Amino acid sequence: MTQPNPSALEALQEDADLTRFNTFGVEARARYLLECHSVEQLRAGVEFARDNRLGLLVLGEGSNVLFVNDYPGLVLANRLKGIVLEGESTLRVAAGESWHALVEWSLSEGLYGLENLALIPGTVGAAPIQNIGAYGVEVERFIKRVVVFDTELAQEVIFDKTDCAFAYRDSVFKRARRGRYLIIEVEFELLTRASPVLSYVPLAERFGAADATPRQVFDAVCEIRRSKLPDPRLVGNAGSFFKNPIVSASKVESLRGQGSDVPAYATDEEGLFKVPAAWLLEAAGWKGKVRGRAAVYDAHSLVLVNLGDASGEEIYLLAQEMASSVLQRFGIALQTEVLLV
Ligand code: NAP
Repeated sequence: MTQPNPSALEALQEDADLTRFNTFGVEARARYLLECHSVEQLRAGVEFARDNRLGLLVLGEGSNVLFVNDYPGLVLANRLKGIVLEGESTLRVAAGESWHALVEWSLSEGLYGLENLALIPGTVGAAPIQNIGAYGVEVERFIKRVVVFDTELAQEVIFDKTDCAFAYRDSVFKRARRGRYLIIEVEFELLTRASPVLSYVPLAERFGAADATPRQVFDAVCEIRRSKLPDPRLVGNAGSFFKNPIVSASKVESLRGQGSDVPAYATDEEGLFKVPAAWLLEAAGWKGKVRGRAAVYDAHSLVLVNLGDASGEEIYLLAQEMASSVLQRFGIALQTEVLLV
C-alpha cells in the first residue's frame, strides 16, 4: 500500500458534531470525522482507523441513518465529485455526487431510465448499497460496475454488476461487514431512447394509455413524492424507516381470512409476496402519531420525523413501538431500512 500523504488527514476533526451529517437532524457526536474530497483522503482515513483500532462509518448525505448513540469511531463523509460521460450512454459518477442532481443532469443530456428515481435523497454512492428503487424501477437495472476501496484488502476493487449480488433493497455492499467497502465510483449504462416505466398505479393513473416523455415522468414523480414525503431540509426524516416485509402466500391468505384487504405483490421468488409496511402501520393506527418530539408523518406512516430537537433514542423508541404493534397485530416482524448506529 502506498503511504498516505500526512496532509490528507489535515481536515480530521475530533469530537465532531454530526447534526448536519444526518437528515434526521438528531444530535450525535463522532470521535473523529473526516470529510473526504479525494480518494487519497479516504485511504488516509482508513489507515488512521486501522492504526488506532477505530470503527469506520461512511456517510454520504446521511439520509438513511439514525444515530441512537454517539459514534465512537471515525466517520468518513464521502464528498468525491465528478461525472464523466463515456461514449454515448455510459456515465462514470463519483460517489459523493447528489443522486437527484444526477437524475436531472442525465435527463438534460438525453439519457433516460433514472426518471422514476427522482428526488430519492442521498448520494450516488449510497444508491447501489441498498439498490434504491421507486415506482417500478430499481437502480441495478442501470448499473454496470461499482468501484470500491476494500478496507480489508487495502486496495481498489471493481465489482461488475453480477458481483454486486443485487436484490430487493439489498446488495453485497449492504451484507458485508460495515465499513468494509467504501464506494468510490458508480458506472451506469443509460438509455438513449426513452422507455418509460408506468406500471405503478400513481403513474398509470396519471398517464393512462398516453405516451409519457421521461421529463413528464420525472415531473410527475417529483410532484407525487413532494405531496407524500417531507422535505428533509424542512423536517428531519430519513425516508422509509422500515423495509416492506416479504411474506408467504399462506400468510397473505391468513391475513385476508381475518377480513383485512392487505395488498400483496408477487416477488421474483415463487410463493413469496411483498406487503407494504406502510399499509400495516396505517392499519395499526400509526399515521400521524406523536411521541414527544418524534412522530409518524401525517401523510405517510412509513416515515418517522423529528419535530424539532428529538433525540435519536426518542425516534428509535417510537420505531420499536411501531414494529412491536405490527408484530402483535399481524404476526409480521418489520425490519429497519434505515441504518441504526
Ligand atoms: P405506494 O405507491 O403507496 O406503494 C406502497 C408499497 O407498495 C410500495 O412500497 C411499493 O413497493 C408497493 N407497490 C405499489 N405498487 C406496486 C406494484 N405495482 N408492484 C409492486 N409493488 C408495488 O408507495 P409510496 O410509499 O408512496 O412509494 C412510492 C414509491 O417510492 C415506491 O416504489 C417506494 O418504494 C418508493 N419510496 C421509497 C422510499 C425510501 O426511503 N426507500 C421512500 C418513499 C418512497 P416498492 O417499495 O417495492 O416499490
